Amino acid sequence: MNASPPNLSAVVFARVLRELASVVGASNVLTTADRLREYADPFTPQPSARSFEASAVVLPATVVEIREVLKLARAYRLALWPVSGGRNFAYGGGAPRLRGSVVLDLKRMNRIIEVDETLAYALVEPGVTYFDLYAHLRERGVKLWVDPAAAGWGSIVGNTLERGFGYTPYGDHAAHQCGMEVMLANGELIRTGMGAIEIGRTWQLYKAGFGPSYDTIFMQSNFGIVTKLGMWLMPRPDAYVIAHVKLPREADLEAAVETLRPLKLDETIRNHAVIEGAIRHAAGQSARRDWYGGKGPLPDSVVDQITARLDIGRWNVHFAIYGERGIVEAQLANAQRAFSRLPGARIELHRYASDAEPVGGAERNMAGIPSLSAFRMLDWVGGTGMHVDFSPICPFTGRDAMRQYSVAKARLAEYGFDYYGGFTAGTRHLHHIVATIFNRDDAKETEAAADLQRVLMSDARSEGYGVYRTHLATMDFAASQYDFNDGALLKMSETIKDALDPDGILAPGKSGIWPRAWRGRRGSV
Ligand code: ADP
Repeated sequence: MNASPPNLSAVVFARVLRELASVVGASNVLTTADRLREYADPFTPQPSARSFEASAVVLPATVVEIREVLKLARAYRLALWPVSGGRNFAYGGGAPRLRGSVVLDLKRMNRIIEVDETLAYALVEPGVTYFDLYAHLRERGVKLWVDPAAAGWGSIVGNTLERGFGYTPYGDHAAHQCGMEVMLANGELIRTGMGAIEIGRTWQLYKAGFGPSYDTIFMQSNFGIVTKLGMWLMPRPDAYVIAHVKLPREADLEAAVETLRPLKLDETIRNHAVIEGAIRHAAGQSARRDWYGGKGPLPDSVVDQITARLDIGRWNVHFAIYGERGIVEAQLANAQRAFSRLPGARIELHRYASDAEPVGGAERNMAGIPSLSAFRMLDWVGGTGMHVDFSPICPFTGRDAMRQYSVAKARLAEYGFDYYGGFTAGTRHLHHIVATIFNRDDAKETEAAADLQRVLMSDARSEGYGVYRTHLATMDFAASQYDFNDGALLKMSETIKDALDPDGILAPGKSGIWPRAWRGRRGSV
C-alpha cells in the first residue's frame, strides 16, 4: 500500500489523482509502487524508510501546468514536494518530508533557455543536469565551464537551491546564481532582480535589481517553485594545474588549514580546494575489505598501512590554479613554497592545457567536467552501501578544524564507523563533510547511523557550530539548533511561509519550516 495524503480520504485522493491526470496527462501521474520507488530516499537511515514516502508523483511540462496543479492543491489542501531532479542523495533523495505528500517533479522542464558566451552565463529550467549543460557547451564549442556538483547527474537548479557546491573557482553555486523565475503557491509568477523589468536585458547580470532582493529566500526553503534560474559560468582558462599535497600525519590537518587559508584569502588559490582524510581518498581506489576484516572503525595502524601502500597522505590537499600560463606558474610557485614548509609534505602536480581533460573523477570535477565517481564511496563498506552526511560549517582555522575532526572521529568510532570525511574550502569557512557509510542490509548498523547523526549535531552545537544542510529526518532538529532569541529566525520564516502559502501546500516541513496547517507535525518522523 502506498502512503496517502494524511488529510484526504482514499475516495477524495482518487479524485485528486484523476484531476491531476487531466492537467498533465495520465502518463505523468505516477502511482505504482514500482515508479514511486525511484523517489524513495535510498539512503534513509531509518530502519524503515516509510516515514518519507510519497503518495504519488506529478510531472508537469510547463509553468501553465504547474499553475493548474497548484490550483488543485489549494482546493484540496494537498501537500506538494517540488524537486528538480530528485537526486538529493544523503539528504533525502526525491522523498518528501511529510509522508503522503505528492512529489512535483520538474524534470520534464529541461530546456537550456540561453547561454551567453560573451557575458558568461546560462539560464536553465529545473530539469537541466550538470551533464546536460556540459554537453551543450562542448557540442557548440562554447568556451565556458560549468561547475559540477560531486554527482554530475544532479540538477543545476536543485543543487543551487540547496546551496550545494563544486570544486572550481565557481564552486559556491548559490553565490554564482543570478536571477530566478518563481511560481508562488497562489499561482503568481515572479521574476527576481532585474528580471522584474518586462523584456529585461540584465536579469542574469546584476543580482540585486531595485528594492529588496529575494533570490536567496527561495533557497533551502519552501516559499515557491523555482521554474528558471540564471547561473554564471567560468570562462575557460588558458591553462590550469591541479595539485595534490600529501601530508603524512594525522596532526597535519591543523597546519594544512593554516597554510591554505592565507592562499585562499589573497586569491592565490581561487577554487574550492579540499582537504581530504585518508580513508575518503582510499575509497576511490579500494574497498575496506581489502585492508581490514574486523568490526568497528579501522585502527590507526591500518590507516597508516593504507597511506603507505597507496602512496597518499593522511591528509590530502587538492587545489587547482587557473589562468594565463605564466600567472598560473607564478601562483603555483607561491602555493608550493607555502606547502613545502610543512614537514614531510609531498606535492604532486598535473598540468593541463586549456581544453585538456583529466582522467580521474575528482580532477575532472576541478576542471568543470561532471562525473559520478563520488559514488565509489558506497563500495567502501560492501553490501548495500549507503551514506548520510553530517555537514557542519567550520571556521577556517587549524584549531577549529582539528577540534571538529577529533570530536567527530571519536563519536564515529564509538558507534562503530570510520571517519570518512574532508573539508571543502570557502574563504573564511570550511564545509566539513562527514559521511557515515553504512550497510542498509544490516538493521543494527542502519539504526546506529541514524542515532549518530543527532549526536554529532549536538556535539557540534555545544561548541557553537551548526550544519548547513541535513537529511529530512533531522531537519527539525537542525532548525531547532538555530535558537538565538527563542528561535526568532524560524518564527520569521514561518510568518513568511504563512503569508505566501496560507494553505500550506508547498513542501511542509522543508528545512524545519512548517506552514500553520501542518505545524503540529514538527518533530514527528
Ligand atoms: P538534485 O537532483 O540536484 O540533487 P533535487 O531536485 O533533489 O536536486 O532538489 C533538492 C531539493 O531542493 C529538493 O528536495 C527541494 O526541497 C528543493 N528544490 C529542488 N528543485 C526545486 C524547485 N524547482 N523549486 C523549489 N524547490 C526545489
